[in-house]
Amino acid sequence: MALFQVSGWDLKQEKIAVGGPAGKKKSNREKRRAKKSERDAHEKETEQEDVNVDEKGEVEQEEETKIQALKESKTVKKEATKEKSKKRKQAEVEQETTVVEAPLPISTQKLTPLQQKMMAKLSGSRFRWINEQLYTISSEEALDLIKQQPSLFDEYHQGFRSQVQSWPENPVDVFVNQIKTRATARPINAPGGLPGLSNKKVVVADMGCGEAQLALDVNNFVKQHNSQGSKKKFAKNNNNNKRFPTTGPKTLDIEVHSFDLKKQNDRITVADIKNVPLEDESCTIVIFCLALMGTNFLDFIEEAYRILAPRGELWIAEIKSRFTESGEKKIIKPEDVGSEFVETLKLCGFFHKKTDNDNKMFTRFEFFKPPPDILAERRAKLERKKKFVEHETDKEELESKRSEKPEGEWLLKPCIYKRR
Ligand code: SAH
Repeated sequence: MALFQVSGWDLKQEKIAVGGPAGKKKSNREKRRAKKSERDAHEKETEQEDVNVDEKGEVEQEEETKIQALKESKTVKKEATKEKSKKRKQAEVEQETTVVEAPLPISTQKLTPLQQKMMAKLSGSRFRWINEQLYTISSEEALDLIKQQPSLFDEYHQGFRSQVQSWPENPVDVFVNQIKTRATARPINAPGGLPGLSNKKVVVADMGCGEAQLALDVNNFVKQHNSQGSKKKFAKNNNNNKRFPTTGPKTLDIEVHSFDLKKQNDRITVADIKNVPLEDESCTIVIFCLALMGTNFLDFIEEAYRILAPRGELWIAEIKSRFTESGEKKIIKPEDVGSEFVETLKLCGFFHKKTDNDNKMFTRFEFFKPPPDILAERRAKLERKKKFVEHETDKEELESKRSEKPEGEWLLKPCIYKRR
């Protein structure tokens, strides 16, 4: 059963920024007193958390109160973790930095069924808090937040998994199947086949990979394919597939790079996906599977453009309820979901291949990076139609719009999970 219900757009007006509103300056004494009671409360809760859950009464409400308090705290600064331990030792010393902390993690050992129920509620509210943070802060702040409190990542993924499991289809599986089908159906770089480098190697970047399930599945598929590909018998049997005659290569060379905010396993490289450690034009497929989270997500798209080789493809899946047309509550025809998003990505230089709106929960997009010859053709066409200036003006308009308000506030709504 899913713990949460996706409802999109229900974000309250006051944004939950890590920085929070700059409130009235507290006196030193007040600050010390607040810190002491925070410490006391923390110690008390840690002592009691295993046994006292049902006695706490409205745990969820308490959690929300904490979250509210956190919303009002000041800017997260780099090095804040170090600062925090220093501060505890020298309570008198004045410091401006306050760390935004999530509510305390909870142990679920030795709990009665009622306590377990309360726990599920509480971890639900923790998940929603982390989720809302990641959608309403910039990617740099997100990287800092997870660096300071890595356990937030685990808790986030616990909730995320439970959410996605309740969907009819997991978009990661859809992408893995695309890779499998196209890899076996056609040669690399042939129409309908996977895009590869000139040596036929397919290089995938999974941006915001979570637990890097995609890399695991693709690696296993490649291993299996290559070991079976060498046996002629299997290749023949495989030809039975009539819809996709398998003219794909016998041996596949597919490498997957997986990036996220925490190194949850060996497949993952820690990076802010607006700036990944890969060479220009070194990838042939870039994937964002439910990963356009920071308020500056068009920076991720620009990064995808940088690392993609010409004719390389950009695959995106995003929750349906995030799409809107210029932030107005217009009703969008199901087949038009994501059209403003597509137009914006075109202004970032991508060509649109297709939008798949068949899935109930998410919309899937395919774009490609045009090679120089197609770009020149397009430019000539725009000039012939005297639309080149118009196109350039649209690009400038996008930039000025972004400088006024980050795209996370108008192009894609944060995906907010509501309590059922
Ligand atoms: N793609 C995975 C995980 C989706 S959840 C899947 O579909 O299962 C979104 C992921 O994006 C989270 O793991 C989050 O940590 C990651 N993420 C969000 N902003 C990021 C950023 N700026 N850099 C790297 N990863 C980011």
